[in-house]
Amino acid sequence: MYAERLARTRAAMADAGVDVLLASVGPDLPYLIGYEAMPLPRLTMLVLHRDGPATLVIPRLEVARVVERDDLFAIHGWDETDDPIGLVADLCGRPGTVAVGDQTWARHVVDLLDRMPATRWRRADGITGPLRARKDAFEIDQLRAAGAAADRVAAQLQAGEVRFVGRTEAEVSEEIARRLLAEGHAHVNFSIVAAGANAASPHHHASDRVIAAGEVVLCDFGGVFATPDGTPGYCSDMTRMFWVGGEPPTEFVELYDVLHRAQSAAVAAAVVGTPCQDVDRAARSIIDAAGFGAAFIHRTGHGIGLFEHEDPYIVAGNDAPLVAGNAFSIEPGIYLEGRWGARLEDIVVATPQGPEPMNRADHRLTVLDA
Ligand code: ZN
Ligand code: ZN
Ligand code: ZN
Repeated sequence: MYAERLARTRAAMADAGVDVLLASVGPDLPYLIGYEAMPLPRLTMLVLHRDGPATLVIPRLEVARVVERDDLFAIHGWDETDDPIGLVADLCGRPGTVAVGDQTWARHVVDLLDRMPATRWRRADGITGPLRARKDAFEIDQLRAAGAAADRVAAQLQAGEVRFVGRTEAEVSEEIARRLLAEGHAHVNFSIVAAGANAASPHHHASDRVIAAGEVVLCDFGGVFATPDGTPGYCSDMTRMFWVGGEPPTEFVELYDVLHRAQSAAVAAAVVGTPCQDVDRAARSIIDAAGFGAAFIHRTGHGIGLFEHEDPYIVAGNDAPLVAGNAFSIEPGIYLEGRWGARLEDIVVATPQGPEPMNRADHRLTVLDA
């Protein structure tokens, strides 16, 4: 699997005229060799030559974490008194063009720029992004398992197993996080719980605000699902809506109905060959027609895989057609500032047989007594 990914990356480097690719913190390194760099100041970096070897430069104290694959890459552990930037520069040789991963620490990039002034620098995402965006069968299985685990937590919420009224957003958020771990996630990326007017803020942080009866509650949660062999896992991300402590007002029921129709339409539009922006338009046109266009303030979705947000982006202006294996969220929202808001989100994979949702939990607004 990794041999094939490295081969495809080298072919893409040749097409792009890139001599060396550097992968550090971020999704490229786990994608290429199954190892995730620790997000610390000490440098971990794979030096991948298009027409030469691959070497993982890594702090000596972290060498034991790496699963060795002598056929794919060499390991060069560096000691505390070594100069890892010089090491990487030496391993690079005198390349014309180097591509460096988007999430690489600026401190390392700036030092490398200094050390290699004659080199042209590119973002590696232009090479690895399209490769990572096309999930293979193993990756789709992992996304399915992650989605099913998140679905189980959604079903528990929808069954009323978690009390909302009288608890703070933060308390409910922590409980959702615990349940994600209990259902097989290795760690939790986020657990947004936004009640009442807070639901109008798409990236609200769960606060100490106590949830009252007669309020809307937005729950958007996800994490990294644990893989059987301990290699870096794939992400879940889903949103479901609740009305707690009584019946929802007609006005909100109508708003939610618009959102639900918009989300379903976008999922149905996510067919191989359809430009990403047309999937966005499928959701947006329904929300526009209902008069909520100005309240849908973000793109319809983002790609997902080893990382929470990656290619392809489901957004106006992205005319790239969906290809089989693309995995992405479909998450339109309607946000009325100071009042309430709603979002509905599933992960979907574009397959030759049509869009396959990774999330199947009930899409209806769940009404709970508490
Ligand atoms: Zn987001
Ligand atoms: Zn989400
Ligand atoms: Zn999302």
